[in-house]
Amino acid sequence: MHDKNRSLVDLDKHALIHPYTNLANHQRTGPLVIERGDGIHVIDENGKSYIEGLAGLWSTALGFSEPELAAAAAKQFDALPTYHSFNGMATRPMIELANRLKDMVPISDGRVFFANSGSEINDTVIKLIWYTNNILGRPEKKKIITRMRSYHGVTLATASMTGLGTCHDGFDLPLDRFFKCMCPDYYREGLPGESEEQFSERCADDLRKLIEHEGAGTIAAFYADPVIAGGGVVPPPAGYFDRVQKILKENQILFVADEVICGFGRTGRAFASDTYHLQPDVITVAKALSSAYLPISAAIVAPTIWEPLISGSEKYDAFAHGFTYSGHPVSAAVALRTLEIYEERSIFQHVQSVGKHFAQRIDSFAGHPMVGDIRRVGLLGGIEFSSDPATKAQFDKLLKVGSFCSQKCQNHGLIIRNMGDIIAFCPPLIISEPEIDEMFRRFELALAETWQMAKANA
Ligand code: PMP
Repeated sequence: MHDKNRSLVDLDKHALIHPYTNLANHQRTGPLVIERGDGIHVIDENGKSYIEGLAGLWSTALGFSEPELAAAAAKQFDALPTYHSFNGMATRPMIELANRLKDMVPISDGRVFFANSGSEINDTVIKLIWYTNNILGRPEKKKIITRMRSYHGVTLATASMTGLGTCHDGFDLPLDRFFKCMCPDYYREGLPGESEEQFSERCADDLRKLIEHEGAGTIAAFYADPVIAGGGVVPPPAGYFDRVQKILKENQILFVADEVICGFGRTGRAFASDTYHLQPDVITVAKALSSAYLPISAAIVAPTIWEPLISGSEKYDAFAHGFTYSGHPVSAAVALRTLEIYEERSIFQHVQSVGKHFAQRIDSFAGHPMVGDIRRVGLLGGIEFSSDPATKAQFDKLLKVGSFCSQKCQNHGLIIRNMGDIIAFCPPLIISEPEIDEMFRRFELALAETWQMAKANA
C-alpha cells in the first residue's frame, strides 16, 4: 500500500526490481533519487547537485533541461499524442525523421526502421538479415559474429551478442548462432613488443579463423560498436577496421555498425563510421537520437538488405515485424528537433573543439601511480586502474577499487561509471571547458582517496 509518510527510499525498496543493480545490496543501500535536471547537472531529492559525467546512460547529449525538446514534445502531444505505423499508416514526424536520418548517415540510399531501444533495434536487424537471407534462398547464412566485451543489448538475441559474461550467467545464454571474436583492446590483449598494427593483424586473424572454422556460407553478419563503451571504453587500434572490413567483404558477411553510443557526435563527427572511415551495411542508433528524452531507436539499412526485403516479400502476407511504438509521433518529433539542434548549434564541431580540452585533462592523469591506461576519442574516455602500471598488474578484485572510486566521485558531486577497474567518462555533448575542468577536479579528489585506500590495503 502506498503510504505517504514513508520515504521514497523505503517505497523504492518496497516495490521495485531495479535493472542492472546488485539487488541484495540495494536492499541495504536503497536508491539515489534524482528529481531535477539543470544543464549537465542532476539534482537529488535532498537538493545535492551532481555533474552527470556519463550523460545518464551515455545518452543525454543536450543535457537535462533543454526547453526546446520539451516544447517539441508538447506541440506534438497537442496535435496527435500517439499513433502507429502498422498496415502502412504513418505520421508526419516519423516520415521527416526517417528522411533526415537517411541523409545524415554514410550509407547511400538507405531505408529506416524505427524501434524504441538499442536492444530492440539490434534485435530487429538480426531478424531483417535472417528474413532477407531466406528470401535470397540462403537459409543457412544466419550466424552472427560480435567481439568479446562488446555491448549490444539485453533481449535474448542481443544479450547473446553482447560479449560480457554478466549478461549470460544465470540467464541460460548465449543462444546458438552467436559467436565471438577477440576484443581489440591493445592495452590488455597486446603482446609485449607488439605494435598496434601487428595487434590489429592478430585480431583480424582471429576473425578470419573463426569464419573459416564456422564456414563463411553460414555467417550472416558481423556487429561492432565502433568504440566499445560498456565493455571498458575501447577505441579501435590502428588499422583494425580496414582489415576487418576487407575480410567481411571477401566473405560476403554484412557489417552492422552499432552506433547506439557513438552516433550523433560522441566521437567528434556525426557517426563513428565517419571518424573511422567505415562502410557499414547497417547503422543502428538510439540514445542521443532523442538526447534520451523519449525512447526511440532506428536502423538505417543499405539497398542490399531493403531491396530483396521489398521485392521478395510478395510471398509473405506482411512483413510481420514491428512494435506498437515504432516511430511513435512524440518520440519522433523530439528526435527531429534534437537533430535540428545538433545542426543549429554546431554540436559536433563543439565536441571537436572541447574534445581537445577533454583530451588534455584526461591525459594529465597519465603517470599517476594507479593509472595503467587512458583511452579516449571525442567526448568519450576511459581510465583503467592498475596496481603496478609498469607491469599492467590488476588490483585484487576483492578491493573493488573501481566501485570505491565511483562512490567517492558521487560523494564529491560527480556521477561516472566504473566497469570493474575502468572508469568511464561520457559527459553531455554540451559540456563547456570550465565544466570539464570541474568534472576532472572532482574526479581527482576521488582518485586521491581511492589511492589512499589502495595503498592501505596493498
Ligand atoms: N548497443 C550499445 C552499443 C549500447 O551501448 C547499448 C546500451 N548501453 C545498447 C546497444 C542497448 O541499448 P538499450 O539499453 O537502449 O536497449
